[in-house]
Amino acid sequence: MTDRPLRPETITAQLDHYLDEATGGVVPPLQPSTTFARDEAYALHNPDNTYSRYGAPVHRLAEDILTRLEGGTDALLFSSGMAAIAALGRTVRTGGTILLQEGIYHGTTVWMRNFCERRAVRLVTVDALDGDALSAAIRSEKPDLVLLETPSNPWIGLVDIKRAADEAHAVGAELAIDSTAATPILSRPLSFGADYVLHSATKSLNGHSDVLAGALIAARETERWAAIRADRNLAGAMLGPFEAWLLLRGMRTMALRIERASANALAVARFLDGHDRVALVRYPGLQSHPHHSLARTQMPGGFGCLMSFDITGDGADALAVAGRLKTIIRATSLGGVESVIEHRHTIEKDLGTGVPETMLRLSVGIEHSDDLIADLEQALIPTE
Ligand SMILES: *Cc1c(COP(=O)(O)O)cnc(C)c1O
Repeated sequence: MTDRPLRPETITAQLDHYLDEATGGVVPPLQPSTTFARDEAYALHNPDNTYSRYGAPVHRLAEDILTRLEGGTDALLFSSGMAAIAALGRTVRTGGTILLQEGIYHGTTVWMRNFCERRAVRLVTVDALDGDALSAAIRSEKPDLVLLETPSNPWIGLVDIKRAADEAHAVGAELAIDSTAATPILSRPLSFGADYVLHSATKSLNGHSDVLAGALIAARETERWAAIRADRNLAGAMLGPFEAWLLLRGMRTMALRIERASANALAVARFLDGHDRVALVRYPGLQSHPHHSLARTQMPGGFGCLMSFDITGDGADALAVAGRLKTIIRATSLGGVESVIEHRHTIEKDLGTGVPETMLRLSVGIEHSDDLIADLEQALIPTE
């Protein structure tokens, strides 16, 4: 035996070689208690467990696994991805500056706009897919916190994490990466210098579209991390033990799911790329993608489940294509075992995010790629 660290596939499949000491079970028990007893001398039965808003063994097991997968020092679960993002954002004081990427998950954009306005935090947004623009913005704005999302949703562009981290650190800023679309199977932002990585665990980490959860992982113990921990524990954006248990269950198959979804997505992207009803496909696995070479170094595990593509014609044509699909489900969200498609313009049209009417966002699941391609083929009929 060597001390070589275990690979993510092994860590997740075995839940870090989990063994329930009480029974020998290889699966963690679901302990729903919110409170934990003390003995005659008033000592806790187990000093780690007092009250479940601060976490219970099932939460800590999921956090330990995420810490190892991301190569961090600590992780915190939240009741949703947005709860994690809000806990991060709330660490910036009045008068401080947040630098936020344009064209990312709309919930993050809207929350940040509202929060920063209410709390007199300066919000600067930048097209971070343009590396020079991002560097210039960090240098001139000297933010406290930089929040980027890669691959971005729904534009599916990549940000060079190492370059962003170097620029941020040079002005004393900290860098957080929303890595929801990548997952720790495909990319590890902390290894490129990010200070925090976050996930909507609702998506690929759980992968079964049946749990709402979020996670933040820190590269090191910082003042901000202590504030985030206090916020999670006291503001109470904690998830229940059953959700944490389901998340653990989902993560056991994460590596396989991501591998299959990535392979399916590449096959689907190649099919769409050659189709005359498709004007443009955004998928980092395509050689034509502007960040393909960055994707090869920053996402060594594969290119993920998420893509977007533009239909020739107008918004009605895009909706008609989505409407003809029989296998791919018309629904929001991403990273589940089932393929889902969404017309983001319908959702975002009043938010000023500039999502084109002709764009469809597709999250590819683990079905057989032939079935997905056949479904898209019959939906992409020529216009009259
Ligand atoms: C879904 C999503 C979120 C928000 O997560 P919830 O779990 O829905 O709160 C944040 N970032 C990205 C990239 C997402 O896709």
